[in-house]
Amino acid sequence: MIEKEYLYQMVWQAVSSEVVKNKKYIIAANWKMNKDAKEVIDFLEVLEGTELSGKNDVVLFPPYPYLYLMRDKLRYSKILYGAQNLFWEDTGAFTGEVSPEMAKDFGCRYAIIGHSERRNIFQETDEMLQKKVQACIRHGLKPVLCIGENAEERNALRHQEKLMNQLAKGFMNLDIKKLDSVIIAYEPVWAIGTGTNATPSQVEDTHGFIRYTLESLYGKASAEKVPILYGGSVKASNIIELAVAENVSGFLIGGASLNVNEFKEILTKLGTCQG
Ligand code: PEP
Repeated sequence: MIEKEYLYQMVWQAVSSEVVKNKKYIIAANWKMNKDAKEVIDFLEVLEGTELSGKNDVVLFPPYPYLYLMRDKLRYSKILYGAQNLFWEDTGAFTGEVSPEMAKDFGCRYAIIGHSERRNIFQETDEMLQKKVQACIRHGLKPVLCIGENAEERNALRHQEKLMNQLAKGFMNLDIKKLDSVIIAYEPVWAIGTGTNATPSQVEDTHGFIRYTLESLYGKASAEKVPILYGGSVKASNIIELAVAENVSGFLIGGASLNVNEFKEILTKLGTCQG
């Protein structure tokens, strides 16, 4: 019995490391409203001292005030970065908002759009998010559109309906030719910051459903180009079982991305660096 379990583990490790080796991932760190300037500098120095293989894309999302540190410290780096949110207008009387061009001035190439904290705490609607997605595309930024159901919707088996809705509205009027500039992050609200991640089979089913929805909307060839990230209590200890799931193109990581050693372990496990 023990031998059978051991054998199973050996086969699983061999198969999963082969799958991970051959996949390219986007590994995105959402720092939310955390860290001070010194902590950001320390983090970047450790990361910059790591040899990155270039196999995966590493994208950091710091709070706005630290974008200048990204621009200064990551100028010659393979590490990319983006804004955690953006407004859709270019300029004007919008106190407290940041435009896509302003983010680009600081070297941003990506923007998170519609994180569940923006949807729930700041009441951002699908209609607003659609404008933000369009603004990103217009200015050459890649939007990472977050979608995800809450626990009640999952328990009532209404998660697919919710995701289809968020997807169709968020991408409404999107030029099909721009589909290769968008990224989706599936982040079940019940898994964010709770320590309970979606299981690999839930992730595989849901990402399969998202892919199917994209195919129905845009056709197979265009839908294939859209990376689908998973986010929700991802850490170094569960990354591999999630990374091998079909249609998982990478991760949006909150809590575990704040600690540089944990983040480096994640990068190493996905073949981004040598450790
Ligand atoms: C997030 O907020 O995008 C997130 C996935 O957080 P965590 O990894 O902490 O669950």
